[in-house]
Amino acid sequence: MGRFYLTTAIDYSNGEPHLGHAVEKIGADVIARYRRACGDDVHFLIGMDEHGQKVEREAAKNDRSPSEWVDAIAEAFQEAWRRLTISHDDFIRTSEERHRRGVTHLMRRIAENDDLYPATYEGHYCAGCEAFKKDDELEDGQCPLHPQREIEWTEEANWFFRLSEYTEPLLRHYEVNPDFIRPAKRRNEILRFVEAGLDDISASRSRIRWGIPFPSDEAHTVYVWFDALSNYITAVGYPDDPAFDGRWPADLHIIGKDITRFHCVYWPAMLMAAGIELPATVWGHGFLNIGGAKLSKSGGTELDLLELVARHGPDALRYFLTREVPWDGDRDYASVNDFIEQFDRRYTTDLANDLGNLVNRVVSMVAKYREAPADGSAAGPLAERAARALEGYRDAMDAYLLHRGLAAAFDLIAASNAFVDEMKPWALAKAEREGADPAVLDATLGQLIGAIGTTTAMLTPFMPTKAADMWRALGGDGEPPAFDELETSMRTLEAVRPGAVLFPRPEET
Ligand SMILES: [Zn+2]
Repeated sequence: MGRFYLTTAIDYSNGEPHLGHAVEKIGADVIARYRRACGDDVHFLIGMDEHGQKVEREAAKNDRSPSEWVDAIAEAFQEAWRRLTISHDDFIRTSEERHRRGVTHLMRRIAENDDLYPATYEGHYCAGCEAFKKDDELEDGQCPLHPQREIEWTEEANWFFRLSEYTEPLLRHYEVNPDFIRPAKRRNEILRFVEAGLDDISASRSRIRWGIPFPSDEAHTVYVWFDALSNYITAVGYPDDPAFDGRWPADLHIIGKDITRFHCVYWPAMLMAAGIELPATVWGHGFLNIGGAKLSKSGGTELDLLELVARHGPDALRYFLTREVPWDGDRDYASVNDFIEQFDRRYTTDLANDLGNLVNRVVSMVAKYREAPADGSAAGPLAERAARALEGYRDAMDAYLLHRGLAAAFDLIAASNAFVDEMKPWALAKAEREGADPAVLDATLGQLIGAIGTTTAMLTPFMPTKAADMWRALGGDGEPPAFDELETSMRTLEAVRPGAVLFPRPEET
């Protein structure tokens, strides 16, 4: 227990939010809500990366000034996160004054460490990556990540960062801190890259106006990656807000696997150069692919994020994406239709049938057969099963394997449904009326209420609104309990509240 600071990549302001952005924000939100339920003091940061060449050009193409353009994009992203009930504590935009001050200070510190020098850069630049590219990073003269975009030949005066000096310190850091880069696949990629030796990199651009002035040379702007990465410290008060020491270092940076090099190599080297502690873990998640291509604006798919949220509600989309896209890997769909079919199928099968029916059946039976609430702490085989499921869930969630945590919750749902079929509470009620011991039905209903209570706690980070509805149906008050309050709360349930339809079938909506 303690403080927990987590961040996501800040999103680039060159287009509308799409499903790919949502996968990352939902996963991060699940972790933030899970840590809060564990009792941690969580600080959850997201935001926008608003500077650079791509934004400057996109604004011009749309007849807007860069600042008008980024304001509109930031609003669209914030609206999407509201619709998905993302529970961030702060939303930073790199065009903000608090960020500019922090970046200016950071670049001065790096300069004082003698890690910046002027030189001329000559080579390829991919505006899609906002990165310089070496010949061996190109395929047929194109950026492999942006094959549809023209690669540019650039020749300009830059300030360079002595990244090459950090090859050994970085390798030592990775060795001493095996959890610095996760999952293991991402760690191995970075190890191979750094072991080959690092070259110095540009820290400024002299031809981009839409950015933060380079402190010692205002003819330049700070290179957009130096600018963007710094958001993780400027948002929590770097350099001079006393709150900074209470938040930094971050416990977890969540990013896409395509930007691990920036976060696991450049960023820790920048922090070392400025004498700032390094974050504990960088997690490079995989992608949702459709027809073999990563979802992105330039990839162009007809999946509209807000339409998907509206299709079965925000919790259903949060469930579907965290269940289907392994948090440590990729998930491929053959086509947009395939994606929609799987979404509808899981909504009906997992949510409406397995989960919705279970809650509905059990709550109705308790209301029908018992005047007092069922004792959710009743012992027996299902109660043991619930305790084991919760343990497996917490191990998975502590390791950030969200899809496994969710699978543990649904294993318990399946076991609970099987328990209803096996125990046949309606038959037990009939036997009771004919003189059988009421303790059997008491223990059966009590274990079912207990298992649904445990399920509710496990689902709260994933489906916060539906979990609150479940908790109310069980007879709980307020929000579902934190993990260490679960047992006590189960003993103080009031009468069940039957009748709520958690997941209406599409034809009923
Ligand atoms: Zn590129």
